[in-house]
Amino acid sequence: MLPDMKSSLAAALLDLVLPTSCGGCGEPGTPWCIRCDSTLPAPYPVRLTGFPQVLAVGRYRGPLRAALLGYKERGRRDLAPALAVLLADAAARLPGPLVLVPAPSRPAAARARGGDHVLRLCRVLARSPALAGRASVAPVLRAARRTRDSVGLDAAARAANLAGSLRTTEPTPPPGTRVVLVDDVVTTGATLRACAAELTRSDLRPGAALVLCDATGGPAGIVAVS
Ligand SMILES: [Zn+2]
Repeated sequence: MLPDMKSSLAAALLDLVLPTSCGGCGEPGTPWCIRCDSTLPAPYPVRLTGFPQVLAVGRYRGPLRAALLGYKERGRRDLAPALAVLLADAAARLPGPLVLVPAPSRPAAARARGGDHVLRLCRVLARSPALAGRASVAPVLRAARRTRDSVGLDAAARAANLAGSLRTTEPTPPPGTRVVLVDDVVTTGATLRACAAELTRSDLRPGAALVLCDATGGPAGIVAVS
């Protein structure tokens, strides 16, 4: 058995025998407690130069950061529904049918995590009652070549690392479809811009983006990242 399959299986078995706990604070009984929920603002816009509309659930800190890292890096797949509810609150503010396009993980990272965590989140999000059946998932973006982990890179280095690294794969929505990009964290906006550029090249319209965590570092809602 491959090591990542083994760790995924171990996490699934642990889920069966251990009662759940809050992904934010560890309190037993629920994957996301009321106290952690009360630390979040209402979904807010993050202004990224050259990108139409970005909505974030909260800052990349505290309980939200802990829950994302638990879900993403520590096998807490049981947190996906709670994180999807938080994203749904933001998604419900966007008009029209929502064609959700997950920002793709690097293949090596997805293998290590037992799957693409943003794609999994999108699938749960699309089934959210808050979106009343008006959301679908179109996982059309793929990493076309090897890129470095972007942790520690500045904005210019992140953009250079990602330039030309993505491809659109079939089946795609009809040309001209307005799509909503989804990612877990926005830092410099390099990933969202690279995704948007590739979607535009493929005749899709990246009309908005949803992110769980805003790590841009400026005051919430008034930051401008170039
Ligand atoms: Zn909590």
